[in-house]
Amino acid sequence: MQLGDLELHLLLTDHWKADGGLMFGVVPKVLWEKQKPADGKNMIDCSCVCLIARKDGRVIVCETGIGSKLSEKRAQQVALREPEGMLHALKRLGIRPDEVDAVVTTHLHWDHAGGLTRRDELGALELTFPRARHFIQKSEWDFAVHPDVRSKSSYVLDDFTPLLDGNRAVEFLDGDAEVLPGVHLRHVGGHTPGSQVLILQSGELACAVTGDLVCQTPHLRVPWNMSADLEPLRVFQQKSRLFEEAEKHRWLLVLSHEPDQPAGYLEDGGQWRPEPRLT
Ligand SMILES: [Zn+2]
Repeated sequence: MQLGDLELHLLLTDHWKADGGLMFGVVPKVLWEKQKPADGKNMIDCSCVCLIARKDGRVIVCETGIGSKLSEKRAQQVALREPEGMLHALKRLGIRPDEVDAVVTTHLHWDHAGGLTRRDELGALELTFPRARHFIQKSEWDFAVHPDVRSKSSYVLDDFTPLLDGNRAVEFLDGDAEVLPGVHLRHVGGHTPGSQVLILQSGELACAVTGDLVCQTPHLRVPWNMSADLEPLRVFQQKSRLFEEAEKHRWLLVLSHEPDQPAGYLEDGGQWRPEPRLT
């Protein structure tokens, strides 16, 4: 769809499943399962929602999903389907990976950063988008390289260290930044130390890619958060701020793991109105 001078495409890559308790933290299951039914293993359906934007002749990719490097064991655990979804979807849009100018990942967890790198035919790691600048909070990088005991399994070094080793494709941010005209990154933290939200602006119009600040439509309630969040109270603060702005200024929101209605608007005190034109 067109949003001012922004051309936006949504890509639902990597259909997979996540544990319901991981997704909804302290929210009782009797409440969340009405909206997101769990299977026999307590798993609920998830997607990785990626956004492609064209602005001023540049191609910007936000979020890269799980990618294709996941071990067979882990892929089975999360019931992963379509691991190369991102590249197939780009091909359908007529975009070659080396035509991507900027890549934003909201944070470096395996299900967001996996698509930053891939393995070539000989098994060597290579960058998925070899000519792009990759914008990442320095606080996220430092934590991902030396995670605490709880976060260790959420980060995979092969996903992101090649951006720096020998490639110099990463640009570190220290807080909020406008990395290209109208392309803003807001440091929100909370879920991880360096979690960020992408806000694309065109005049009065804007689209925000939330990352795991807002995973799925049930997370549009401020206190419904993931058990994986490191600082829940900070998540609540940043969500409240984002929701107020999004409702007031009619920002288009893109939710990180929502498989059914991942893009839409907040209306009338929190009602979700999906945007069917963004596909
Ligand atoms: Zn995450």
